[in-house]
Amino acid sequence: MTNRPVIDTLEFAKKEQTQDLELRSVDLARLTDESTIVNDIVTANITGGTQTDGKPFIDLKILSGLRLTCQRCLGLFDLQINSNSRFIIALRENELSEVSLEEQHVNTVLAEKELDLVDFVEEELLLALPMVPLHGEGKCESPRLLDIETNPTNPFKRLK
Ligand SMILES: [Zn+2]
Repeated sequence: MTNRPVIDTLEFAKKEQTQDLELRSVDLARLTDESTIVNDIVTANITGGTQTDGKPFIDLKILSGLRLTCQRCLGLFDLQINSNSRFIIALRENELSEVSLEEQHVNTVLAEKELDLVDFVEEELLLALPMVPLHGEGKCESPRLLDIETNPTNPFKRLK
């Protein structure tokens, strides 16, 4: 994607606009530092609206597969992302904390005249990444990689 869509968040919500994005690795440089995008495609949908209580929001849907390196066996595994998050738009900085106190499990975003949607999506994907990517318990491909007995210089003894 060569043009990066930018929205005025409040206008976007008020007019109930919607925007579909198809992003590739080249668009998401920060994300691809840490992972590979499966099939090199991230699809996202951003929709604006107003809640029944009058609060403007942006809904963000992301569908993607990320390939990560397991920090235990250094094998690769895929993490499916299928997220659907609502962001309440706060007009001022001090409203950010107020809204998140009132509405738990809801994200907030500060009203912006020019919100870069690609950044917005990338930020959300970065948050979805595990701090330490690991296969599920017992799912590692080649646990012998970290078998301490194969590494005589390792000072730690096996606890078995
Ligand atoms: Zn593993």
